[in-house]
Amino acid sequence: MRRRSSASAIASKRAPAPPAPLHATGNGAGDPAWAWEERRWRGAVNKVRAGRSLKPARWKNGARMCVALSFDSDHETSTLREGSTSPGRLAQGEYGARVGVPRILELLRRHDLRASFFVPGVVAKLHPDEQRRVVAEGHEVAMHGWIHEGTSELTEGVERDLMRRAFDTLAKIAGRPPVGVRVPSWDFSATTLPLIRELGLLYDSSLMADDEPYELLDDGVATGIVELPVEWIKDDAPYLGMNRATAIRPYTAPSAVLEIFRAEFEGALAEGGLFVLTMHPHIIGHRSRIAILEELIRYMKGIPGVWFATHAEVARYCKATA
Ligand SMILES: [Zn+2]
Repeated sequence: MRRRSSASAIASKRAPAPPAPLHATGNGAGDPAWAWEERRWRGAVNKVRAGRSLKPARWKNGARMCVALSFDSDHETSTLREGSTSPGRLAQGEYGARVGVPRILELLRRHDLRASFFVPGVVAKLHPDEQRRVVAEGHEVAMHGWIHEGTSELTEGVERDLMRRAFDTLAKIAGRPPVGVRVPSWDFSATTLPLIRELGLLYDSSLMADDEPYELLDDGVATGIVELPVEWIKDDAPYLGMNRATAIRPYTAPSAVLEIFRAEFEGALAEGGLFVLTMHPHIIGHRSRIAILEELIRYMKGIPGVWFATHAEVARYCKATA
């Protein structure tokens, strides 16, 4: 009996892996990429690609460049997403709602700037008054998953269900349907783009193929969906994030983060382009860090010809004029 089961274990170990579908939903295909046929790697690359540039010849009202500030209000979902219910870790996220967002809103109000807040459905339900205040103060509330789930781990059916739930929840709480999405952790799957099209969204802000806005191609077909690209370089979390249980540690001084963000802004200014900055209320909202955001804002506002806009405003402008 024992011998037979070990023999069958060896046999199953040697059995070739079943072929993965041409467009696997997740990131891992199960068999080595070096064995793939051209059709397969070409199909994977072509599934979601950058189409024509949507960088406008000139920015609104003759501005030299555009700045789009964004805040991903992950709050407690950065813990819940892992299935963790640790009150200690949940409190780290709660800080984002209790201290971070009010501090950010106060800063934006003082400088008369509008920004975009990407909010998971669960966060909207936990903090509905926060979303209503964000909208009331002229900012945008846009989609950021249901519970900050890892999108590439989902089947298409589950991804569709969560996106619809998130859409309906934000529409109800914020009082208007969202027009854009930032996939949690920028974990864009092979089925995300068709679902964005199904929902009729204007833009996505999760991909990294350019510095400037571009149109998304779905299997080579132009979709009309505007991509406002992001990058980990222009994100507070990789420099300042902290999770005691993992290797995530703040490894950059706030002053150095300011230096990097300012250089990205200056590069965009020199090219007459777009500067999208991603921040998190529970990270940037702390005293030593909100200070660098204010310094950056002061610096950018001191330069003539900078158009500050929400993601929705940028996407609408680029789609209409580029
Ligand atoms: Zn997030």
